[in-house]
Amino acid sequence: MLELWTEAVRSIEPMIKPAHRDLWLRPIECVGIGDGRIRLRAPNRYHKEWFEDNFLPSILKDLEARACQSFTVDFEVSEESVVATSLTPSGSGASFGAMTREVRLPQPAPPPPPAPDLVPRYTFEKFVVGPTNQFAHAAARMVAETPASRWNPLFIYGGVGLGKTHLLHAIGHEVHKQRPEWNITFVTCERFVTDFIGSMMHQKRQGGSSSMEDFRARYRNVPDVLLIDDIQFLSNKDSSQDEFFHTFNALHYAHKQIVLTSDKLPAELPGVEDRLRSRFTWGLIAEVETPDLETRVAILKHKAEVDKVNLPDDVALYLAAHVKTNVRELEGALLRLAARASFQGQSISLELARDALAKLIANTPTGLTIESIQREVAAYFDVKLHDLKGPKRHRAVAHPRMVAMFLARKLTNMSYPEIGSRFGGKDHSTVISAVRKIERLCGEDPTVRSVVGTIESHLRQP
Ligand code: ADP
Ligand code: MG
Repeated sequence: MLELWTEAVRSIEPMIKPAHRDLWLRPIECVGIGDGRIRLRAPNRYHKEWFEDNFLPSILKDLEARACQSFTVDFEVSEESVVATSLTPSGSGASFGAMTREVRLPQPAPPPPPAPDLVPRYTFEKFVVGPTNQFAHAAARMVAETPASRWNPLFIYGGVGLGKTHLLHAIGHEVHKQRPEWNITFVTCERFVTDFIGSMMHQKRQGGSSSMEDFRARYRNVPDVLLIDDIQFLSNKDSSQDEFFHTFNALHYAHKQIVLTSDKLPAELPGVEDRLRSRFTWGLIAEVETPDLETRVAILKHKAEVDKVNLPDDVALYLAAHVKTNVRELEGALLRLAARASFQGQSISLELARDALAKLIANTPTGLTIESIQREVAAYFDVKLHDLKGPKRHRAVAHPRMVAMFLARKLTNMSYPEIGSRFGGKDHSTVISAVRKIERLCGEDPTVRSVVGTIESHLRQP
């Protein structure tokens, strides 16, 4: 009879990931079977619950088919001293509804491990390693394999589109694979801040303290691993910083792994308190840099393979040689090319690539440079070029600056961070909000629309 059980277990094994098999399936012992009853033993109630929820129904189904009878299940948990189990008769004949009910539970059962909120394709397997990211990749892997041991926090930094978020998710996937019972909390810093503000406001309105308590439990008590993306978002947000400071301390003190990403080094984060900046340097700091040509080619080929796009070598090299800024742009270029090819019913060729990406690759589709745009805008509004690129915030320069950013985005192929850097090192988010604002104003306000149109037509005149 015991063999029947073993066979039934074996029948479901191929459906289970090896890591889960070792962790959740093997420790369950069958200590007796007969007379329509099965006695199982689990090392603790986590195992018992996980097993009941995930594996027992399929195993029972298989077993009952083999044995041509139904079974009820007794479960013992070795760890706990007094756990009596009682039987609940199978409600539906040959079904597999027979479960145990524990008479006495020392503590309420923990919630089942949630599936982490991660982008499925951001895994280590799908991350192409080259000289400019190999350190960050190795650090991420190390942390994923031995979380909270030595490198805590891990601080990954670098420019946009270079794989920081990808690595962050990859750590989450890997930890989840090896330790499915662990809680992995992934959150963008922006979300953390909104969540915090929301809880505070809710508490003020409703009185009491439960929503803040919930918030704190969520971030301080629940995570075994906290993955927090784009920490630079904390800049100049004092109360959120203070909250994060305490979150960080609580987790670090409890030996929970923290991984942060940022577009700047801790020391260069503006508007972040020293006590927080110094904590960011406690563990390991790893940089991702713009990939070199070979890595860019490798990334393109990898993406092409994943997306089942037939990308000839010469085209891969051509793209990689011309799209240098970051991986996101590289992916975009490939996507655009693949779309064009399938739209025209052609296969991808150098010819088609040249044609499809002419705009992107020329970098200035209109032949305009950002300098000429800045000069023209400054002249139109009669402000100094120096002020247009500088930090002054009053409307007389802030508005022309936004117009110049908007036109730079429209008339060149520069990315937001590049445009920001040409305006005296402004953040990409500043450029994004400027572009959005002018877009909106052009829709709402005929004067703005005509001013922008006039400057644009001046610029386009040969
Ligand atoms: P960041 O967070 O640094 O702005 P992301 O992690 O969002 O950048 O990466 C942008 C895109 O480029 C994503 O689609 C990501 O999968 C891809 N990517 C970045 N680096 C690599 C790499 N080394 N190998 C494969 N894909 C990459
Ligand atoms: Mg990112």
